[in-house]
Amino acid sequence: MANKRIDGFNIQGTKISKECPEACYYCGSSNVVGIEIIGAGDSPIIWECQHCKEHMLKFSKAKTERLLQSAPEIDITEQEWEEAWANGPN
Ligand SMILES: [Zn+2]
Repeated sequence: MANKRIDGFNIQGTKISKECPEACYYCGSSNVVGIEIIGAGDSPIIWECQHCKEHMLKFSKAKTERLLQSAPEIDITEQEWEEAWANGPN
């Protein structure tokens, strides 16, 4: 598995904020929310700007990657689920 799951996020730089940032580092928007990943702890592990969709670190990249790896792999979208259901088993 060469793919790093953290690569699915738009993270620039290595700045870490334990608390939800009051403003996005990139666009300055105050519309920043915590992203919880099912299976990767019971609190947000990454911050996302709702304005520019950039992500900001709560933990080091290495720790964030470890948390992401501990979560079940869910690469399927809701739409794909519905199509899978509609098509039925092969
Ligand atoms: Zn932003």
